[in-house]
Amino acid sequence: MRLNRVLQVGAVVMAAGLALTACGGGSGSGASGDKNLVQRAKDNKKLVIGIKFDQPGLGLKKPDGTYAGFDVDVAKYIAKQLGVEESGITWKEAQSAQREDLIKKGEVDFIVATYSITDKRKNDVSFGGPYFVAHQDLLVRQDNTDITGPESLTGNKKLCSVKGSTPAQNVKSKYAKEVQLQEVGKYTDCVTALLNGTVDAMTTDDVILAGYAAQQPGKLKLVGKGFTDENYGVGLKKDDADGKAAINKAIQQMEQDGSWAKALETNVGPSGYKIPAAPAIAP
Ligand code: GLU
Repeated sequence: MRLNRVLQVGAVVMAAGLALTACGGGSGSGASGDKNLVQRAKDNKKLVIGIKFDQPGLGLKKPDGTYAGFDVDVAKYIAKQLGVEESGITWKEAQSAQREDLIKKGEVDFIVATYSITDKRKNDVSFGGPYFVAHQDLLVRQDNTDITGPESLTGNKKLCSVKGSTPAQNVKSKYAKEVQLQEVGKYTDCVTALLNGTVDAMTTDDVILAGYAAQQPGKLKLVGKGFTDENYGVGLKKDDADGKAAINKAIQQMEQDGSWAKALETNVGPSGYKIPAAPAIAP
């Protein structure tokens, strides 16, 4: 009799445990519901992927409504490895300051958006990769001669960058007293400000700046002194170890079969940016 009771209680506890496991991480809704990334992709054959919409060569929404860039190609490759065709992808704009929130709230399945892997961000999200290393740099007007690197941002120089980005943080911590930092929502707002003379320079990763310089021939130039290493990762839900492993496997394969180099040459090559070697994937 007593043994029966113990067994009954045990069964109830086990059933509750199973129910909890089935709901694991069930706080999210929308793109990222209850299951992990691998399972969701497999079951739904659909993914919502966060990219930039205004970064030529990396993540760009074109006037015809299609999307192009190196990040877009990396995202498509990963999706395909997860069993999702391009037609099953919904692209969502992931501005710099919104990325952690989009992932935490489950509004995207993952993000490929010039997203630097940092310890601070790792408190909120997990990263696959890195799949590319860029360097923070400065973009100025073609006729500028006095801005030669971050140390020359003295006096009343006005510098534009984007809220929630590592370059803006870096400027704040290292050059804040010297420069007037203007933070906007997205980099194209900085390009407009730079072209119309409202700011003296803009700062973000060199590969992003090279895309804008190429769009404005004869008007803008890169200073060309990268002063940080920005390891680009694929952001996903914090505790999704299977998802991270699957993303890493896809990136590795993309590098090995030549698609990684081809995607860079096609998308980033035209800006004149020197294509680097692929970085080692982090454990
Ligand atoms: N890689 C930097 C970052 O993740 C700058 C580029 C961006 O804002 O997307 O903050």
